[in-house]
Amino acid sequence: FIREDIRNIAIIAHVDHGKTTLVDAMLKQSGVFRANEKVEERVMDSNELERERGITILSKNTAVFYKGTKINIVDTPGHADFGGEVERVLKMVDGVLLLVDAFEGPMPQTRFVLKKALELKLKPIVVINKIDRPDARPQEVIDDVFELFLELGADDEQLDFPIVYCSAKNGIAKYELKDESNNLEPLFDTILNHVPAPQGYLEAPLQMLVTTIDSNEYVGRIAIGKIERGTIRKNQQVAICGKDGSIRSGKVVTLYTFNGLKREEVEKAELGDIVAVAGISGINIGETIADFQNPEPLPFVEIDEPTISMTFSVNDSPFAGKEGEYVTTRHLRDRLFRELETNVSLRVSETDSSDAFEVAGRGELHLSILIETMRREGYEFQVSRPKVIYKEIDGVLCEPIELLTIDVPEEYVGIVIEKLGARKAEMVNMSPAINGYARLEFKIPARGLIGYRNEFLTDTKGNGIMNHIFYGYEPVKGEIPERSRGALVAFETGEATTYGLYNAQERGTLFIGPGTQVYQGMIVGVCSRSEDIDVNVCKKKHLTNMRAAGSDEALRLTPPVEMTLEKCLEFIASDELVEVTPKSIRMRKKILN
Ligand code: GDP
Repeated sequence: FIREDIRNIAIIAHVDHGKTTLVDAMLKQSGVFRANEKVEERVMDSNELERERGITILSKNTAVFYKGTKINIVDTPGHADFGGEVERVLKMVDGVLLLVDAFEGPMPQTRFVLKKALELKLKPIVVINKIDRPDARPQEVIDDVFELFLELGADDEQLDFPIVYCSAKNGIAKYELKDESNNLEPLFDTILNHVPAPQGYLEAPLQMLVTTIDSNEYVGRIAIGKIERGTIRKNQQVAICGKDGSIRSGKVVTLYTFNGLKREEVEKAELGDIVAVAGISGINIGETIADFQNPEPLPFVEIDEPTISMTFSVNDSPFAGKEGEYVTTRHLRDRLFRELETNVSLRVSETDSSDAFEVAGRGELHLSILIETMRREGYEFQVSRPKVIYKEIDGVLCEPIELLTIDVPEEYVGIVIEKLGARKAEMVNMSPAINGYARLEFKIPARGLIGYRNEFLTDTKGNGIMNHIFYGYEPVKGEIPERSRGALVAFETGEATTYGLYNAQERGTLFIGPGTQVYQGMIVGVCSRSEDIDVNVCKKKHLTNMRAAGSDEALRLTPPVEMTLEKCLEFIASDELVEVTPKSIRMRKKILN
């Protein structure tokens, strides 16, 4: 059976290439809005944190209608720290739109997801966006895309990709640059003609693979996924096939499909539909929702195991501001355990201290996003230095190894190899540069990666991209030499949190990764090996993407405001995480190594 009335696609796009604008334009033109309804909420829009980090953290679903066909659009997470999510999301779709800025061309950040999509044999449609830009160079960009596809191992059919030229901003799409157009129909038609409709067995026992978990205080856990086979109905009794081969029963209390930006309650859904199912407690990613009489599981999609842990504890420092809204153990515990409902590769456990919890995740980025999210919500707590999770296997101590992929402009290859060598990385592959970017692949102990992201961003002046995926556990070999002393600092003003790694090799060097923001009035500290500290106040308003060391333009030395040098020295010298709280400005830091 072929669901001719459905197409399921994912959009792969570098941040700022126009994904949100395009989806908005598709929504407006697809008739989901009544004439007087304004597009106010933009579901695909990145949250604040995503924008700062330049990566998609959450996957979201939207659906548009065109010529009687429903096009489900799913967003792809941009980072491998989020475990197998990329693969799970791509398994729901039959085609991908690679959206590329007509001037910037394909960016290395999208390579990881694109490679997965090509491996899964998905049909790509290349959308060249922003053709209205005066500096647009669509032909060269298409050549770059072609080369990238070749390099990523696209097959002949994938290399024969259809191209659509777009100005998402003006809501127009064309087959050829010279065509006249005043709408997106060429894009919609290309999706309908090139993306295969879902197909399978309709008259067969239900199977649905749970791809994402959402939760909501009214209906509880919500399982999202595509119906692979059969039909699902509201109030239906279903079987849930677990990872370990177990089968339990559950009931579909509420069933939704996606319609525009919203979820819409429906009575039934069929093969090929992407649905959200509420009412099954304890349902988890990777499990199959199946027919009650004939439960047959789909292959379980592994969730990557956590390899890094940090202790989260109540802030008991003498400088504690207690300015946060949520400061108690109870708050912390409830929030962390709540996070487990949707953050599937996270583990939370109790520790010997009743005020502290061990939180394990996929990498430093995974945990730092949680920390930042909680702080923005008003939680106040301390975190320890990250540790890797060791395991004893057959009496031998083993440690997690990651497969690290690095894309950097050629001039930084040397420094990257040198730094990673010192961190016990073993190079497994190096590809020649395209568009000036070289790709390096390494096997590296997870402990060697701790703290590397910031160093890497500094070394490559913010132009490098790194991704890592779990490789396996291997016996521990050798020591990783101590790195120079430095401090990880988080700043909070009323408006934002910023992290910087002050692992200064040279006195007075400031490192802030791309995506962090510095606001006027924010107090920042700079420390060096000799533990001197300068206190700077950022004068320039709202600087984003401060990349280079020593951005003097951004930071001017002025007499410290509301903070004494003694206090700064005290916090830099101590090994504990300390908070300095002059009025609304809080500052935290932790000595690394
Ligand atoms: P996203 O990060 O991929 O979701 O990107 P957005 O949709 O937020 O767009 C990023 C920026 O590019 C915004 O300032 C848009 O107005 C702009 N933009 C999007 N589409 C076009 C386009 O077709 N032409 C031009 N000139 N700008 C565009």
